[in-house]
Amino acid sequence: MKDLILKIKDEHSDFLWDESRKTGNAEYISFPKSNSEIINILKFAYSNQINITVQGSLTGIVAGAVPNDGIILNLSKLNKINQVEIIDENLAYITVEPGALLSDIRKSIEDTGYFFPNDPTETSASIGGMVASNSSGALTYSYGSIRPWIQYIEVALSNGDTLCITRGEHFATENDFSLTTTDGNIISGTLPQVPSVDIKSTAGYYIRPNMDLIDLFIGMEGTLGIITNITLKLTKKPNDVAGIVVFFPNEELAIDFVKYIRGEDNFEDLSANAIEYFNSGALNLVNKMKTEREIFKEIPPIKPEYKSAIYIEFHRDSEDEIEESIGLLMEILEHINISDDDTWCAFTPQELEKLKIFRHAIPESVNLLIGEIKKKEPTLTKLSTDMSVPNDKLEWIFNMYNKDMQENNLMYVIFGHIGNNHLHVNIIPQSKEEFLLGKKIYLKWAKEVTDNNGSVSAEHGIGKIKKDFLNIMFNKEQISDMLELSKKFDDKSILNNGNLF
Ligand SMILES: Cc1cc2nc3c(=O)[nH]c(=O)nc-3n(C[C@H](O)[C@H](O)[C@H](O)COP(=O)(O)OP(=O)(O)OC[C@H]3O[C@@H](n4cnc5c(N)ncnc54)[C@H](O)[C@@H]3O)c2cc1C
Repeated sequence: MKDLILKIKDEHSDFLWDESRKTGNAEYISFPKSNSEIINILKFAYSNQINITVQGSLTGIVAGAVPNDGIILNLSKLNKINQVEIIDENLAYITVEPGALLSDIRKSIEDTGYFFPNDPTETSASIGGMVASNSSGALTYSYGSIRPWIQYIEVALSNGDTLCITRGEHFATENDFSLTTTDGNIISGTLPQVPSVDIKSTAGYYIRPNMDLIDLFIGMEGTLGIITNITLKLTKKPNDVAGIVVFFPNEELAIDFVKYIRGEDNFEDLSANAIEYFNSGALNLVNKMKTEREIFKEIPPIKPEYKSAIYIEFHRDSEDEIEESIGLLMEILEHINISDDDTWCAFTPQELEKLKIFRHAIPESVNLLIGEIKKKEPTLTKLSTDMSVPNDKLEWIFNMYNKDMQENNLMYVIFGHIGNNHLHVNIIPQSKEEFLLGKKIYLKWAKEVTDNNGSVSAEHGIGKIKKDFLNIMFNKEQISDMLELSKKFDDKSILNNGNLF
């Protein structure tokens, strides 16, 4: 055990924080290289009642992998990627260890003709962290979150026992569930009655009557067990991909455009694969950063009359199908009097890469700006929302965000997954007072979004910093029932203690 668990030293300081920039504490750290090492550490921690915090790549933004105390279990060395197993023309499987990085998995399947359509932007994320967070991204509009792409998982429980769950093999009966561990122990009980939202959400446990029980472990933020092995589903790689950015003179027109391409108001659904949004604050920020930072120089100038932009991506089987989709898109643009001069189109991988730089420039620019502000006021951080609402609340949420930001004179940008009515508002506070005001507004938004059948967290999760939001979305009894459910799997609550509850 001595070689397996190390005392924390200064050299481990980078394992005490994640992309939320919250810093934590721990006494020990371990980098297991096999499942049996994980089981040994779990048995040791369980018998000594020591908390364990699981880490993938630490790219999470809700401090889920930031420890409060105890042992850090960093899975970066468990990163084996097996060969693709072809099932048919449209389906293949790949089995990977939890520490495997998304970028490495993508590389390993590059030439197979299959692809893994989950894209949480940050490709250095580990697959274990992605499953534990039910990660999403731009392609979630058409391919869903990571959930449907998980075929099999192994979950090490806090007492050292293991669950092996294949999709389609273990279902709840209404709300009753029962699972048998590899040691032959039965874990059974009743799933809590919680309101299930039918929109993009990863707030709290995924619970549905008659659910496939594999889904309980996707998005559980490491509170039920440690995911030690994963089989992913892969789908056929599209033959042709096109990306188009359309610029608009105002926000209203951009929202109408989104509704039309989604097939609302009697328009034909264009079956887009990604629909992303950028408001005027985001476009201004990119223009400003272009002049200041070398990495953004390749982005073409954005005209000052452009007040918002939408990025659309099409995945198709042939050039003809791409042309057909673009043709339909141009018809809609003509209908709303937008010229094709006000678009950027990308058809080759190189052109698509340039559009990616533009899209990534927004969160990167916000982080750079916050970095500058932090030099003057180190306690300030970016305030970033992750809420989603049903289709018919899209205009409503835009109005609420803009009104509250403008009335309070705060600097902000809005960008993100408009196809799923899931926008990230980033407030860039200039002072402590603005930071506190921003936080107050966020709590108010969480209440309003919940009242309008939305989710307080569509993709980033709750972790340690959004628990107030979870307490708004669920009542005390529901939260307490979820905690009781977690104790069926982790009776001493030693795993990722401080996440969710
Ligand atoms: C610039 C940027 C953009 C991003 N964009 C998106 C986006 O578009 N969509 C999106 O969904 N996310 C996004 N993220 C967030 C982040 O990349 C994802 O949440 C990712 O899934 C986290 O993976 P990770 O390996 O870094 O996990 P970590 O941060 O290490 O951990 C995340 C959580 O999972 C738990 N965990 C990790 N591994 C395991 C395991 N094997 N078993 C059990 N629990 C485990 C941790 O304890 C923690 O609670 C973004 C992050 C950045 C920095």
